[in-house]
Amino acid sequence: KAKETGRNAMRFFDPAMQTVVVERAILEAGLRKAIEGSQFLLHYQPQVVENDRITGVEALVRWQHPQRGIVLPADFIPMAEETGLILPLGNWVLETACAQLAQWAIRPELAHLTIAVNISAQQFRKPDFVEKVLAVIHRTGANPNRLKLELTESLLVDNVQDIIQKMAELKIKGIFFSLDDFGTGYSSLSYLKRLPLDQLKIDHTFVRDILYDSNDAAIAGTILALAKSLGLEVIAEGVETAAQRDFLASVGCHAYQGYYFCQPLPIEGFEKFMMTA
Ligand code: C2E
Ligand code: MG
Ligand code: MG
Ligand code: MG
Repeated sequence: KAKETGRNAMRFFDPAMQTVVVERAILEAGLRKAIEGSQFLLHYQPQVVENDRITGVEALVRWQHPQRGIVLPADFIPMAEETGLILPLGNWVLETACAQLAQWAIRPELAHLTIAVNISAQQFRKPDFVEKVLAVIHRTGANPNRLKLELTESLLVDNVQDIIQKMAELKIKGIFFSLDDFGTGYSSLSYLKRLPLDQLKIDHTFVRDILYDSNDAAIAGTILALAKSLGLEVIAEGVETAAQRDFLASVGCHAYQGYYFCQPLPIEGFEKFMMTA
């Protein structure tokens, strides 16, 4: 018995374990400070249609960490989700993207661009989500016809009637809805039919090996067929080569996002890219 306790005590003081706990605490504290101290920024990745015409961008959040430099979402979004900090962070992202839309609206060469914003399930689930979005649009003067909200299948465990109601209220104002990472979650097809979506986004994990893996090619083809029958647009993410783009085009996918076209860029870099494209 004493031996067991001893072993447990040893485990409790396991230095590796303690490092993990301390690192998590540091990350959480850092995130709180980051939100208060506006250490976030958005990078913008072009979305293109055939002939390389840029129709819009996806806004991707980055943490400009005082010591670590630019930190990518994979290293802080999970913690933000766990702690609820995703709510103030998500509000900031939406506000910043909408302010950007309003700035572009008065620049003829940028006014046509849409901005896609990733919305976490927690954000969407809030009873005042619709009100919040409409308030941001009002405050910033953004054109709702240029705003896309990217939802994920993780949302679909919720009451579908509630999801549909919220989407409908925003769609009436002109906001566009895309289902991100499509095919990686577990959305039932009957849900999909009922949601007032505009677009499915083929996940990059299906695009990566699309030329060599017949299963991935079949999945992409199925998503395209499904989208067609439901009257939805499709965009493929993670397009890295001309060959992937050509294959996607040959099976009927005509909108793309990925390193082949452009990396996510800071605002100045993106605007320069647009001016020289
Ligand atoms: P996502 O929404 O699926 O975004 C696409 C991710 O693919 C981005 O990663 C982008 O940089 C990356 N990507 C772009 N082109 C390529 C390519 O050609 N190949 C490959 N392999 N990857 C490519 P990023 O920026 O690291 O973001 C990761 C995820 O973090 C996003 O996935 C999204 O789920 C989440 N995220 C980003 N910004 C936000 C945000 O503002 N709010 C919320 N809730 N989530 C966000
Ligand atoms: Mg996305
Ligand atoms: Mg995605
Ligand atoms: Mg993805």
